[in-house]
Amino acid sequence: MRELVFLAPRQLDWRERAEPRITSPKDALVRPIAATTCDLDRLIIRGETPFRGPFAIGHECVAEVVAVGEAVTGFRAGDRVVVNWHISCGHCPHCTTRRPNACLTHQPGAMYGLPGLGDWGGMFSDLLRVVEADTALTMLPASVAPAIVASAGDNLPFAWEFTIPHLAEAPGAEVLVMGGCGSIALYAVMFALAGGAARVEYRDTDHTRLEIASHYGADVVEGPPPRRAGAFPIVVDASADQASLLCALRSVAPEGIVSSVGGHFGDVSMPLFEMYQRGVRFYTGRGRGGPNVAEALEWVAQGLVDPAPVISCIAPFDEAPAVLAGGLMKPVLIRS
Ligand SMILES: [Zn+2]
Ligand SMILES: [Zn+2]
Repeated sequence: MRELVFLAPRQLDWRERAEPRITSPKDALVRPIAATTCDLDRLIIRGETPFRGPFAIGHECVAEVVAVGEAVTGFRAGDRVVVNWHISCGHCPHCTTRRPNACLTHQPGAMYGLPGLGDWGGMFSDLLRVVEADTALTMLPASVAPAIVASAGDNLPFAWEFTIPHLAEAPGAEVLVMGGCGSIALYAVMFALAGGAARVEYRDTDHTRLEIASHYGADVVEGPPPRRAGAFPIVVDASADQASLLCALRSVAPEGIVSSVGGHFGDVSMPLFEMYQRGVRFYTGRGRGGPNVAEALEWVAQGLVDPAPVISCIAPFDEAPAVLAGGLMKPVLIRS
């Protein structure tokens, strides 16, 4: 079977490898039918991360179940599913409290489509072995097209996580989103406005992304980040830019929260005394994935949000090497 391999900056190609097999009764085999790039993948492809090729890339897909192990109870062949990108056991104290990203059984950081902590396979592939399928898979609502939610295993619920639960704590709050990294910032704008934010301010330097944010209803500000942009109870840093992160940390209201989606690979010196005086909660992490996948999908299924405008293009699966090398923000590769 084929899997897409990241070789070097802007160089990707198909590689033949043996078909994965079910090796545990809790495994499933799935065939990705709509796959896309995470914002992190785009940085990897541009050579702006510590991740070096070659490795099987891709950790966002909707897939069709091909086979399940005998202990899998929630899914069967033919089901359309979203695959959570974290490798998790489903039964440790973290997995059972909605934190599969910090699974205590598998090393933190074990993921599909990234190197370093085991070769779990990538999702631009003909077949993928999903471990702990009952935990890792979420059923795709029948009314939702796979291509629209190809990002539902990672970036989409990531944006949900950094907006909707915080808006439940602070209903009607104003939200600042620092863009730059790609799709997560735009999904955050989308969820925040659908979730009742009084106003969302979106900052970025990229015209296309600013237009999408404006389409969702954000007040957009083009240009490099100022030192401070205001005082927002909820701030999302999805910039992958140090100056924007610092602006985010200075622009949070007293006792507000700043959530950073990452994309910062070096050390950053933070304005800790300013933050101390105001009281700032800062969270950064890979997103909890699993438990939030169904939540994010439900918002789409109910028509409360529409992720479609974020998609850069929809192309045939076979064209993945060239399409991904082109560096578009959110290309979706679909199997006919
Ligand atoms: Zn990701
Ligand atoms: Zn676990």
